[in-house]
Amino acid sequence: MTDPLNPAPPTGEFSLIDWIRRRSGVGRTTVLGIGDDCAILRPSPDANWLVTTDMLMDGRHFRLDHDGPEAVGFKALGVNLSDIAAMAGVPVAAVVAVALPKAHAVALAQGIHSGMAPLAERYGVDLVGGDTNAWDGPLVISITVLGETTAKGAVRRSGAIPGDAIVVTGPLGGSLQSGRHLRPQPRLLEALALHQAVPLHAMIDISDGLASDLGHILEESGGLGAILDADAIPIHPDAVNQSLDDGRSPLDHALNDGEDFELCVVVAPEDATRLINAPPSPATIHRVGQIRAEPGLWLRTRDGQLIAIDARGFDHLQQ
Ligand code: ADP
Ligand code: MG
Repeated sequence: MTDPLNPAPPTGEFSLIDWIRRRSGVGRTTVLGIGDDCAILRPSPDANWLVTTDMLMDGRHFRLDHDGPEAVGFKALGVNLSDIAAMAGVPVAAVVAVALPKAHAVALAQGIHSGMAPLAERYGVDLVGGDTNAWDGPLVISITVLGETTAKGAVRRSGAIPGDAIVVTGPLGGSLQSGRHLRPQPRLLEALALHQAVPLHAMIDISDGLASDLGHILEESGGLGAILDADAIPIHPDAVNQSLDDGRSPLDHALNDGEDFELCVVVAPEDATRLINAPPSPATIHRVGQIRAEPGLWLRTRDGQLIAIDARGFDHLQQ
């Protein structure tokens, strides 16, 4: 990894920060980036800030020895951007705090940065600061992303109403075993396109599994319920592969596996039809169910039977 502009690799904390600083651009909202005690950001007129943090730990969210530092950097930024997408926001800046294992700390930090950089560039996110520590423990990385609301405002979890349709932006399940969880594709452009096309009543990104994350929308929307159509849920090929290994059904994986980072969106039923007939690019849309007033989450089978979706296990769905 030689750099024609800087052939000498950084050796300590300050030359590492300098190395990162020289790779960090300054965009629209950044008045002052890396190098002082704080960054200075100027919000766009009339926008509100969105702020989100996610921390990833070796052995829990990734395996550094197996996945490598670039994957860690990509995932750590990607999951934060997915939260901005879930509010239909525009990400503008990120700060990155790392606890690096002492052995190879600088090379690790460079690898992490190289993994983050393409995502940051693609979505116009300035790296405006962070904190760099080394210790005898495992790698921990915490990223905070700041975003702005658009003129249409943020989309919350709390706006679902009975009769609304539930849609998702892509196939679900099996991302952990396949390794897809390391390459989250934040649905930022999709969220903005959907938000432009129709009023979005509620939205969440699917990080814990469709059943669980839809549950958050139901709860935040005042204790509503929902019916999901078993046949309508888009199942990722990874879920099918994993089911061959563990015997759980692909549908079980699609409902309960986490880290797909697709969006679950709640809209008026006529707007769902509109979106299905003419998906606003680059979004893809699958209509998976309906919100109802009566609390509880149900799965409707092909023959019309309703089965309670139990967050603790899906063995009863196997038959
Ligand atoms: P302070 O001691 O005032 O907190 P630091 O010496 O920790 O400052 O950091 C110096 C500058 O480098 C700050 O602007 C900080 O935000 C930035 N910085 C430190 N670590 C990182 C990192 N891993 N990525 C990006 N910026 C960083
Ligand atoms: Mg300071």
